[in-house]
Amino acid sequence: MAKEIVCRDAGYDCDFMIRSENEEELIEVVQQHAQETHDTEMSQEDIRGAWKTV
Ligand SMILES: [Zn+2]
Repeated sequence: MAKEIVCRDAGYDCDFMIRSENEEELIEVVQQHAQETHDTEMSQEDIRGAWKTV
């Protein structure tokens, strides 16, 4: 089972999406993207609450 995060689902006008089976990696990449692109801090809990299992 993989986890998927789609920026557009979170209400951003942004085409970023990531799908990974590695939760640690996904959290890291999403945190970095949120920071660099949206100037937003996302906690692990935020991300765990936002991903879909696909
Ligand atoms: Zn984005």
